Amino acid sequence: MRIATISVHGCPCIQPGGTDAGGMNVYVDQVSERLSRLGHDVDVYSRIHAGMEKGFNERAYNLTHVSAGELALPKEHLPRVLQEFVSEVVNVAEDRSYGYDLLASHYWLSGVVGCELSNIWETPHVTSFHTLASIKKRFWPDEDEPKIRFISEARVARDVDTVVVWTEGEAEHMMTQFGLPRDKFNIVPPGVDTDCFSFTPIASEQNTKSTILYVGRLDALKGVDLLLDAFAIIATQIPDVDLQIVGGGYADEFRRVLGRIASLRLADRIKLPGVLPQSELPKIYSDAACIVAPSFHETFGLAVLEAAACGTPAIAADVDGLRSIVDDGNTGYLIRERDPTLYAEKISEIVENPPLRKQMSIAARNRAEELSWDGAVANLSEIYNRISLARSIPAPLR
Ligand code: UDP
Repeated sequence: MRIATISVHGCPCIQPGGTDAGGMNVYVDQVSERLSRLGHDVDVYSRIHAGMEKGFNERAYNLTHVSAGELALPKEHLPRVLQEFVSEVVNVAEDRSYGYDLLASHYWLSGVVGCELSNIWETPHVTSFHTLASIKKRFWPDEDEPKIRFISEARVARDVDTVVVWTEGEAEHMMTQFGLPRDKFNIVPPGVDTDCFSFTPIASEQNTKSTILYVGRLDALKGVDLLLDAFAIIATQIPDVDLQIVGGGYADEFRRVLGRIASLRLADRIKLPGVLPQSELPKIYSDAACIVAPSFHETFGLAVLEAAACGTPAIAADVDGLRSIVDDGNTGYLIRERDPTLYAEKISEIVENPPLRKQMSIAARNRAEELSWDGAVANLSEIYNRISLARSIPAPLR
């Protein structure tokens, strides 16, 4: 089938791990690539952005940069260019004589575009929100999410043919929030490329790793302060352990984190290399004793899964997405309380016990192998076919 994938601000050619690019960009890239390899024609439509002329390695899908709004338009201004985005996509598709069998949209902005296109083209529409305003609001009541986002998320969830979510918890949240039936949702967890993120088992006695790792955007929801407080405890107990924080964020947040590190007097024990290309991450994951993910909320948590594929155990917050990756006590530890002492205890346990780490490494890799991209995409392809077929059968007369 021919699929139009709408990812307004999540262009797959943007380097993930910085300000507004992360797991969603990786998801759109991996899923589009693998759907294409399965024989679907996939056209990804993303908005123009800085650096797009650099392109990226050849892909099996087509990527079109849609000219809607000025190049450097901040994310919060995107709602006002969505109509222009719709018109541009319609024109491009008409010029190319493309007719679509299915629309897949990512994040609420794309969901709004998808609903418009679905009406114009009479095409079935599948959406994934990746994050929801109502969830963000739960953790940051003071943060101003625009009203239009709340309204649009409810409308998109209601109007699409199906919502693809990563976990049962996400489905339950939306059922309550939007008053939708369970059969509106399909659960398909994302995956990991277990060839790129590979694992070489090593003997316990050679397993002397002393780096604690964090990989992700520096975003308030990721809870990096909890890790800093835990590391301040560990640093007094284990002399040669260090912390590496990989990823970037808005300049203000980066500065704030640097300030906290300085006030904890940990600058000589913590490295912040900034955003790194994904090709450098397998070695970084493999060299770490453990990855720590102290997020307030995580829809999924690709970095933790990538680390698991490299045989690196995780100490993670016991929240929905991370719970679906980390097997507590087996591939790492899940911690319910936001307590730095508990994090420090579990991190130290893994750092100081090579045989335990070796055992957890193997279990983590086994868990990652259960969550391959190919499995996820086969599942999605089956859902797309089912939705498309359901639309082509006329509803029975009443
Ligand atoms: N990432 C990267 N370089 C970095 C930091 C992160 O390529 O410096 C990638 C990482 O490999 C992962 C994604 O960004 O695939 C982050 O996804 P995750 O689900 O962990 O977090 P999100 O950004 O979706 O909140």
